[in-house]
Amino acid sequence: MIITISEIKEQFDKWNGVIFNNELPLPSFELMNTKRILGQFRWRKIGENKLGYTIRISTFYDRPFDLYVDTIVHEMLHYYIKYKGIKDTSSHGREWKSMARKISRKYGLNITRTSPTGGGVSEHVLEKAAEKNVAKFEYAIVCKMKDGHFGASVVPSNKLYYAAPHIRDWNAVKEFKIVKAPWNLTYSLRHLRTAVGVRYITKDQYNELIRCKEINL
Ligand SMILES: [Zn+2]
Repeated sequence: MIITISEIKEQFDKWNGVIFNNELPLPSFELMNTKRILGQFRWRKIGENKLGYTIRISTFYDRPFDLYVDTIVHEMLHYYIKYKGIKDTSSHGREWKSMARKISRKYGLNITRTSPTGGGVSEHVLEKAAEKNVAKFEYAIVCKMKDGHFGASVVPSNKLYYAAPHIRDWNAVKEFKIVKAPWNLTYSLRHLRTAVGVRYITKDQYNELIRCKEINL
């Protein structure tokens, strides 16, 4: 699952009561997409003697809920130590470790310095990566067929010279144009990517594609 801000806040409220006697003031919560950091506790000066606190949780991975909870409590421990001014040997020092051990045992949690991701990369991260990597334009052969239908074929640019002459001979095609179309128009035609295979498209699809910049070979 991908945790939301309101679920993080719910867990914060729950464990603040259960473990910390509601001593921690409500911090701000943020989601992040970091690969190596599953959670983060931050503080900064926001006034003369006032600090602002933030708990950030990564949604880079699709994780089981229980693991998100471990990460939230992990960060709450950092928060508690900072808020109470407890001296520790390092950020995951003796104090932090001993509290993490006690809390884990008492409440059936697993608060460790590094915790498992427990799942693969999130769908939204994969989608963003795909968008970034995909070519902004693609070549499409757009046809009027003899039977009155419309057809199209998305052709990789390196196959354009090879594909077009075949289309010309193809006796079901009445006329065709090769266009350079933006990615959002050709995306749904992706499964047609069989070099010279032309498939039917709707009139609306045809009208959008035919308006794209024509390529003359
Ligand atoms: Zn930590």
